[in-house]
Amino acid sequence: MAQILQAIRGMHDVLPEQTPLWQYAEQIIKEVLEAYGYREIRLPIVEKTELFKRSIGEVTDIVEKEMYTFTDRNGDSLTLRPEGTAGCLRACLEHGLLHNQVHRLWYYGPMYRHERPQKGRYRQFFQLGVETYGMAGPDIDAELIVLIDRLWKRLGIHDKVRLQLNSLGTIAERVLYRESLVDYFQMHTDQLDEDSLRRLNTNPLRILDTKNPAMKQLVANAPELMNYLGEESRKHFNALTTTLKDLDIGYEINSRLVRGLDYYSKTVFEWVTDDLGSQGTVCAGGRYDSLIEQLGGKANHAVGFAMGIERLLALMETMDNIRLAKPVDVYMIRVGEQAEREGMRFAEVIRNEIPGLKLFVGMDGGSFKSQFKKADKTGADYAIILGDDEVSRGEVGVKFLRSAIAQEQTQQNMSQPEAIRFFHEQLLLK
Ligand code: ATP
Ligand code: MG
Repeated sequence: MAQILQAIRGMHDVLPEQTPLWQYAEQIIKEVLEAYGYREIRLPIVEKTELFKRSIGEVTDIVEKEMYTFTDRNGDSLTLRPEGTAGCLRACLEHGLLHNQVHRLWYYGPMYRHERPQKGRYRQFFQLGVETYGMAGPDIDAELIVLIDRLWKRLGIHDKVRLQLNSLGTIAERVLYRESLVDYFQMHTDQLDEDSLRRLNTNPLRILDTKNPAMKQLVANAPELMNYLGEESRKHFNALTTTLKDLDIGYEINSRLVRGLDYYSKTVFEWVTDDLGSQGTVCAGGRYDSLIEQLGGKANHAVGFAMGIERLLALMETMDNIRLAKPVDVYMIRVGEQAEREGMRFAEVIRNEIPGLKLFVGMDGGSFKSQFKKADKTGADYAIILGDDEVSRGEVGVKFLRSAIAQEQTQQNMSQPEAIRFFHEQLLLK
C-alpha cells in the first residue's frame, strides 16, 4: 500500500469537528469589527522578501530566523507573510488609499513563521489583523483597545486576559534611551546571552523582550523608557490612559514592553493570559506612524494590532457554555426504490422553501434501523422518513430524535406541505 503523507510540522488541519468553534469566533469577531465601522481588506499570502526586511527590520527574530523565504522561478526572492501589517500598508500605498483619507481596516488569514512548534506556537497560524490609517490622536489608540475589550466580553474570555500598556516615545526619544540602555547592559555583559550580546550593537531595545528567564532580573533593573519620554509623547500616553479610565478598561503599565517589531512608536500594548504558559500573548499592537515613510509613503499615522486565533481558541476551548451550530437539523431516511427517487426530489423542495434548514439526505440505502442509527450519529433533531408506503400515500413520516421519550413515540405522518410548515416553525423556534 502507498504510504500516507503527513502535513508539514507545525501546520495544522482544522478538522470538521473543530470548525464550528472557529466559525463561532470568526462570526463574533466580524460583528464587533462592523460595529465600529471597520472594513475588510484581502491581501496576498506571498510578498517580496524586501517588504518584510524593510518593515519588520533586519535585526528581529522574524527576519533573522523565522521567515519562509524562497526563490521564485524567475529569480525573485519571495516570502510567505509572517504578519500582515507590512502587506496591508504596501497595498494601501500602492493603491493610493492614504491621500487625505482615514481608514479602518481588518484582514484575517494564515501567517507563516519557522518557529519551534509547541502549544500556541505554530508554523502556520491565523491572525486577525486590524490597521487604521490617518489618525494622529490617542483616541484611535483607545478605540482599538476598547474594540478588543468588547471582543473578549463577547467571546466570554474577558476574565482570562489583561491589558499591558507602554509608550515607546518618538524615534528621537528612543535614541537617548538607547544610549543609557547600552551603557547599562555594557556594565553587565557577563549576564547577557548570545542573542542579547549581538543585539547590544544592533537593536538593544529588543533585549528587553528576551524570553530567557536567566536575564529577567537584569532586564527588570534596566533604565525605563517612560522616564525618557518628551512632552508630546507623555501627553499622548496620558490622554490614552484617561480615556481607558473613562471607559472602565483596566490596564497595567509594563515599561519592558517593547514589542518584537521595529516599527512602533508611542503607544504599544499587549493582551496577555496566564493560561497558555509561555505563549501568553494573545493580541498585540501599537502605533507605527514611521513605517509609512519607511515604505515610501508620505508622513502619516497608523495604529493597529494582531490577534493570534489559535491562542484565542485555546482560551475558549475550556468554556462549556458556548452554543455551537450543529451541522445537521434534519436527516432524511429513504427506504425502497420509489422512496429514494421521491426523497431526492422532496429534499430540493424543502431547500427551496426553507433555505436556512440543514437537511442531510442519507445515501446508500440500508434498513430503517441502520439508517436511524446513522441519523442519530449526525446529531440531527429530526428524521424525515420516506418508505414506499409513505410515497404511495403522498406523505412523509417525521420523528423527533433528541429525547428518550420521543424515541418511543411512533412517527407522525404528514403531507409534504404540512411537513414543510412544520420544519419552518421549528427553525423559527431555534
Ligand atoms: P511571541 O512573543 O509569542 O513570539 P510575537 O511578538 O512574535 O509573539 P506578533 O508578531 O506580535 O507576535 O503577532 C501577534 C500575535 O500573533 C501574537 O500575540 C500571537 O497571539 C500570535 N502569534 C505569533 N506568532 C505565533 C505562532 N508562531 N503561532 C501562533 N500564534 C502566533
Ligand atoms: Mg514571535
